[in-house]
Amino acid sequence: MSDMNRLLKHMQLKPIVADSLDFAEFLSRLKEQPEIADTAPALILRAVRNRGVVDIEKEPADRRGYLELLQAMRIPAWKAFDHVRGSQRTVHRIMSALASAANGGYELRKALLLIGGPGCGKSYLANAIKATLEGELVYVVDGCPIHENPINLLKLLSAEQLEALAIELGMNDPEKGVTLNQLLKVAGEPCKHCWKKVMIESNEGGVVKYHESPNLGSVKITEMRLTSRNFGITTWVQTEGGCSLVETLKQGSRGVVDLPEMCAVQKPGDGETLQIDALINATEDRTVPDLTSCGDNAGTLPLNALIIGQSNQGSWDAFLNGQKDPKKFTRRMNIHSVPYITARVEEELVYREFVAGLIKKPHFDPNAFGLAATLAVGSRLTAVTGLSPIAKVRLYNGETFVVRKESTSSSGSYGGYGTYSTPSTPAQWTEKELSELMKASNAEVKDEKTREGMFGLDLPFMLAFVGSLADQAMRGPKHPAFPGADPCVTAIGMIDALRARLEAFKDTNGLTDQDKKLVETLLSTWMKKPKDTSDTPGLLEKEYRRLLKQQILDAFSPDYERRAQDMFKKYQLHARHYGNGLTKFRLPGTAKDIDVDTGFLDLVDKGRSLREQSPTVREYRGSIDAQINNLTFSQGTLPSEDADKEIDWTTLPELKQAIEDYLNADIAKKVERILAKKYDLLDEEDKEAFDAAFASFKEHGYCEICFERALEYAKELKLWAKAQD
Ligand SMILES: [Zn+2]
Ligand SMILES: [Zn+2]
Repeated sequence: MSDMNRLLKHMQLKPIVADSLDFAEFLSRLKEQPEIADTAPALILRAVRNRGVVDIEKEPADRRGYLELLQAMRIPAWKAFDHVRGSQRTVHRIMSALASAANGGYELRKALLLIGGPGCGKSYLANAIKATLEGELVYVVDGCPIHENPINLLKLLSAEQLEALAIELGMNDPEKGVTLNQLLKVAGEPCKHCWKKVMIESNEGGVVKYHESPNLGSVKITEMRLTSRNFGITTWVQTEGGCSLVETLKQGSRGVVDLPEMCAVQKPGDGETLQIDALINATEDRTVPDLTSCGDNAGTLPLNALIIGQSNQGSWDAFLNGQKDPKKFTRRMNIHSVPYITARVEEELVYREFVAGLIKKPHFDPNAFGLAATLAVGSRLTAVTGLSPIAKVRLYNGETFVVRKESTSSSGSYGGYGTYSTPSTPAQWTEKELSELMKASNAEVKDEKTREGMFGLDLPFMLAFVGSLADQAMRGPKHPAFPGADPCVTAIGMIDALRARLEAFKDTNGLTDQDKKLVETLLSTWMKKPKDTSDTPGLLEKEYRRLLKQQILDAFSPDYERRAQDMFKKYQLHARHYGNGLTKFRLPGTAKDIDVDTGFLDLVDKGRSLREQSPTVREYRGSIDAQINNLTFSQGTLPSEDADKEIDWTTLPELKQAIEDYLNADIAKKVERILAKKYDLLDEEDKEAFDAAFASFKEHGYCEICFERALEYAKELKLWAKAQD
């Protein structure tokens, strides 16, 4: 090893040139690893897959439900795109397009066009693809102006020569793996430079002597890394005196060419054509014009790249309107809408990451970001008759719970929610109905413009709001009781600030009718401020109450999970025998007969409203095993239907709710006893329980200020005793 190589190794830097070889060596490597002949889409696909998928078990608890939902829907969460929060469904569509391109399908001759509003993540997606390719190895013909793949040179051989070569390499039988013929189907035609190299024997004084057949022995091949600083990863922005699109395409060959402002076209001068026209041949024929030696029968260069265009809907429409033949472009584009984030936990992560990047920042109540995210995501989702907007947000977040049917009169045309009324019938959505709803949410759309999540409060709006709220809090007074603590944005403070922001937004100039309708609906149904403690608040504060109630109950019952699991096991066991009409049964693993505990079953059932499908108590109890068995056979689109997931107390939403109701009622008594008195007046045991609860709140991210505020709020409403809806 040379000194320099040792140094590079020490610094863990990888050289741009990884290896040099001759054509024979290339062929022997091709036999072992046919993927070295890959097209750019195939290379990208492989690079993404090599980085693997997010390990759900290692993710924070509040993100797991969402990732499990994706898993149940057969949507992988690729690590390469994990930092583009909430992009998993969009990435799944892009990966499918890449897979058909890699397979030589029609997508190979199309550019990927990402369309979406400000801050939807399209540039993050393009950047993630570019970052994934950084450092990937490709084989290139030495000196080729477009770094073409040596496989292209085989196109110069005759059919007989190719057949002989395929037999020699053992790459002639599709049963035994990839054949040479298959690889050549997606290869390009060699450029003039490479052609000359293998075809011209000598050129003396203008007398050119050609080889009888291509002399591949003279070809040198280099194994090189793609990098944005050399070739294979390029970005084109049309500027005066900047790189031409043709040059950028040429430099990006073997990898990716990103056009972040594809539709920002300048007007062509007299007799000039638009640079963007180069995209037509670049996609349709996968070539770019060879401008290196004009006049010398220049010809074309074989392009092998994924072209990514980015635009918003308005610019794309305007671009097409300006074209004589718009179809010329639409035919060559694989259009993907990039919706805003529709998963609450992912939106929340973006806010958290944004605030973490601020130099001075206040403390935030741990519910504050979740609530802002609930409003933002809720504003983007389309209305479903009978489904509360909050329930939809929670479903999309991968939460399993009993979803009640609502009697709403929906009048939303912006895709939001109309007037919201208290449910009169507590009927439930069945798992089947919910599954179908989720399937529909993920179905292909005919018109990409109608994809869910393309409209609503956008991310730049939300981040600007969060940023100014942080500023405001830092400028505000310190809490008198905690002068040493950072200022804190409480949950109610967040709700009030969101309301004020929307009120101000309502008065902004230049709002569209759609915007106006959105902000009105949000203010009237989501943000309604309750007049007093008995008044019903808007959806967002209601959701806060639900979250806070559960946090309090969890904090005062640290063994909640274990108790719930014990109850589930006991219920399952006793319900099975009850359903079979027995009053006694043998305890598994023992010789002991015990009574079916109907008192216990009744207690759990008390909070449960029987389903229409199970008209009797006996029928419901007898169906528990069958419900669980069904799950182990069928795989649906909800996390609870994922057969790979372990069965636990949360698996059956209806039973989970009954167990929660039972436990919550029990814990509420304890909470009532402890919180009703001043701390100093509590007995030792209750003091300990209170301290443990405070420790648990702190663990969840509360500071003294927001803990105190949250507790005051909960006490005022006796939140722990309130029925959940
Ligand atoms: Zn070439
Ligand atoms: Zn705080």
